Amino acid sequence: MSNSASGNKKRKRILTGDRPTGKLHLGHYVGTLANRVQLQGEYEVFLLVADYHMLTTRSGKEYIQEVEQNARDLVLDYLSVGIDPEETTIYVQSLVPEVAEIFLIFSMLVTVPRLQRVPTLKEIMADQLIENPSVGLLTYPVLQAADILIVRADLVPVGKDQESHIEVCREIARRFNQVYGDVFPEPEGLFGGGATLVGTDGKAKMSKSLNNAIFLSDDGETVRQKVMKMYTDPTRLRATDPGHVEGNPVFMYHDAFNTDKEEVEDLKDRYRKGKVGDVEVKKKLIDVLYTFLEPVRERRRAYESKPGLIRDILHHGTEVVTREGRETIRLMRDAMGMTYFKK
Ligand code: ATP
Ligand code: MG
Repeated sequence: MSNSASGNKKRKRILTGDRPTGKLHLGHYVGTLANRVQLQGEYEVFLLVADYHMLTTRSGKEYIQEVEQNARDLVLDYLSVGIDPEETTIYVQSLVPEVAEIFLIFSMLVTVPRLQRVPTLKEIMADQLIENPSVGLLTYPVLQAADILIVRADLVPVGKDQESHIEVCREIARRFNQVYGDVFPEPEGLFGGGATLVGTDGKAKMSKSLNNAIFLSDDGETVRQKVMKMYTDPTRLRATDPGHVEGNPVFMYHDAFNTDKEEVEDLKDRYRKGKVGDVEVKKKLIDVLYTFLEPVRERRRAYESKPGLIRDILHHGTEVVTREGRETIRLMRDAMGMTYFKK
C-alpha cells in the first residue's frame, strides 16, 4: 500500500525463457541474452526453464532424461553472460504445478479454431513432419499464456515469430477480465531483441540442430577451428580478388562482436579492394571472439566451482514463482467465485 507513497515504485515484470534442449550459442546471445542482461536492472525478470514446452515436440524418455543436464547447462550459460541470480528469478516450469491449473482454466477461454490459426503451429508441423498435432502442441500458446500470467507479467521479450502467441495471451487475459473481473494485465510483446545471427556455414540462422553454431561454452581452440572453417565469399578465389562484405558471415560476426568499429571499416574497405585475405579477417575475428568469450568463460568457471549453486538458484526461483502462482490462483478463484468447500 505504502509503495507508491514512499516512491519505491514497483518494477514492471518480464517473463522470458528457453526450452532445456541444449547449450546456448552466439545466436542466442545476439538474439535474446544480451537484451535480457540489459533488462534485469530495470525490470523484475522471471526466466523460465520451459521443460513442459519441450514435451510438446519431444515427449520421449530419451529427451526427458537429458532435461536435468540441459537445464544446468542453460543456467550456467545464463550466469556466464551476466544474468545475475540476485536480480533475475530463474525457475523450472514443471516444478511449479500451479502453472498447469492456470492453463486448465485458460483452456476454457479460447477456441480450438483460434489455436488452429496460430501460424507457428503449421510451421512446427511442417518442420517436424507432424501430421496430427497433439492437444498439447495445439495448446502450446495457452500454456505460454499461463507462464506469462502466473507471475502477472507486463512484458514478454520475444522474436517476431512469437507475436501470434502474445496475441493469444492477450486475448485470454482480456477474456478472463471481462468474464470474471480484473485480475490480469494485458501483457505486451517486447520486440526490441537483436537481429538473427547467421550460421558459420552462411545459412540464414545459427542453430544447434544445423550444426553451424559457436557455443558460449566452446573453448578457445574450438572457436578458432570453427572460425577458420567459416564460409566467406564464394566468388572470391584469391586474396587479391575484390570481395563481398555484404552477406559474408565473417563480417556479420565482426559487426556483431568487434567493438573496434574503425578496424571493422578498415577490414571491409580492404576486403572490397582485394587488399586483405580471408585468413587475416578470420584471425582478427578469432581475437574478437576471444575478447568477448574469455570473461564469459571466467564467470562460468567461477560458478562451476560452487557445487550445488545451480540447484539452489533453481529451488529458490521455484519457491518464488510457486508463491506467485498460489496468489494468482487465489485471485482467479475469488474472481470466478470458485471458493466453495474452502477450509
Ligand atoms: P534448435 O536447433 O533446437 O531449434 P536453436 O539453436 O535454433 O535450437 P531455439 O531454441 O530455436 O535455438 O531458439 C530460441 C530463441 O533463441 C529463438 O526464439 C530466438 O529468439 C533465439 N535465437 C536462436 N537462434 C538465434 C540466432 N541464430 N540469431 C538470433 N536469435 C536466435
Ligand atoms: Mg530453432
